[in-house]
Amino acid sequence: MALGIPARIRVSSTAAQAERFHGDLPLKALPRLAELLAETGGMLAVSLQASSLQGHVALQGTLGGVLPLACKRCGKTYGWPLQTEVDWRLVVDEASERALMQDCEPLLVENDELQLREAIEDEILLSLPMLPRCESCENVVAVQPEAAPVEEEPRRENPFAALKKQLKSD
Ligand SMILES: [Zn+2]
Repeated sequence: MALGIPARIRVSSTAAQAERFHGDLPLKALPRLAELLAETGGMLAVSLQASSLQGHVALQGTLGGVLPLACKRCGKTYGWPLQTEVDWRLVVDEASERALMQDCEPLLVENDELQLREAIEDEILLSLPMLPRCESCENVVAVQPEAAPVEEEPRRENPFAALKKQLKSD
């Protein structure tokens, strides 16, 4: 059954019913992400499966889509392909959070409630490129690096050193 992507979920029942969150989430529904996008008309494909894993509630799956980003070099809007794997463990205390950090991504939940859309948004914000560049700019940058090697200046004597020398010899 398609449940859509609710804003928040009740953790215990989600796991007990092995719920699946599968569907499209409008980019407009993620305000912090939308602020960074060139356009917000698109959709995000979400596919998450809840289960119980080693005493914790797990949410695993993928987030995908094409995000319209503005190229930092030419300003053109281009589609950045997002495809990210999610491996969350919903934990209720910081000790479990620390214990799981090596193997997966623990999310601390309070009052049996997870802000699902916010968690999805956080995940995407973390995977966005720091310096968005469209494909043609990426190629230009790869062929001719912007940071050209600095030409070495001809060695000149420090004018103050020269003055010091003069004073000493007087
Ligand atoms: Zn560009």
